[in-house]
Amino acid sequence: MYAMKEGDYVAGKTISDELHGVVMPSKKSEKIALKLDSGYNISIDRKNVREISVIERQKTSKKDKEKIHPKQGLKSITILHTGGTFASKVDYGTGAVSASFSPEDLLEMFPEIKDIANIKSRLIRNMFSEDMNFNHYNLIAKEIASENSDGIIITHGTDTMHYTAAALSFILKNINLPVILTGAQRSSDRGSSDAFLNLICAANFIAKTDFIGVGICMHENLNDENCLILPGLKSRKMHSSRRDAFRSINSGPIARANLKNIEFISSHERKNNNRKLELKLFNPEIKVGILKAHPGLKIEELLIPLFENIHSRPSKSHFHFFISS
Ligand code: ASP
Repeated sequence: MYAMKEGDYVAGKTISDELHGVVMPSKKSEKIALKLDSGYNISIDRKNVREISVIERQKTSKKDKEKIHPKQGLKSITILHTGGTFASKVDYGTGAVSASFSPEDLLEMFPEIKDIANIKSRLIRNMFSEDMNFNHYNLIAKEIASENSDGIIITHGTDTMHYTAAALSFILKNINLPVILTGAQRSSDRGSSDAFLNLICAANFIAKTDFIGVGICMHENLNDENCLILPGLKSRKMHSSRRDAFRSINSGPIARANLKNIEFISSHERKNNNRKLELKLFNPEIKVGILKAHPGLKIEELLIPLFENIHSRPSKSHFHFFISS
């Protein structure tokens, strides 16, 4: 009854339920851990299982994975991974949540992407985006500059993705290719993940257009149909968990993208070979503060240590000063 191994797809019955799912490693021998078709993980007491049988043995092993051969006529896209929820993947071999980002892994998770472009994929950091700082923005920009592809996708944690998009918009002066940031509100291996649509729409947008610049590609609404390409410099995450959390601020979206079509909503810069990328890297000593403007704002509020040099040395200072109301 229990001749099943990790990674096998099984069907079973407990006292109260019928179950279908993939066997995951379980730390306790008296429990069976399953990843259900719905994407949820459960742990069941073996004594509550009435019957269970293997429907399909685990198929993929590292050796079996598909090898990629570049296809003529397709653009090249490099995916630079930086971590966040998008990067989370359950490894059924070990049970650990791990990040595995070879092009073969990506094809396995999102095979549709290989019909859109010739994909190269690298992990440049594996971190949550709340830990990013100006050094990371510089690092991502240098990685982009070292690539030779038609376009770049950056997978990123969503919490500060709009800060990175804005920072890259400043650093990548005269950019002559598309750089599209995308992420996910639910990890890529879950049935309910938004990662697939976000990534495929980003790839499709790069493949089918001559857009240049920095953009964000995330769901337009709660349906899994369309994504919006939002301006990197003017967008913000407005909700912690909704798939359509990103909105452009003081500006419209650039385009609507789905698995088939791209529809431009506002004007955009196009590829122009006279442009030569120049990196305007941030000074790593930069300090950034946000001061909330309010009625009755007092000069003393500008004199806290972070802001105190603004008036005395505005031109030489590394301070960047935003007033938000
Ligand atoms: N805290 C995570 C991050 O921003 C959330 C996410 O990836 O969406 O890295």
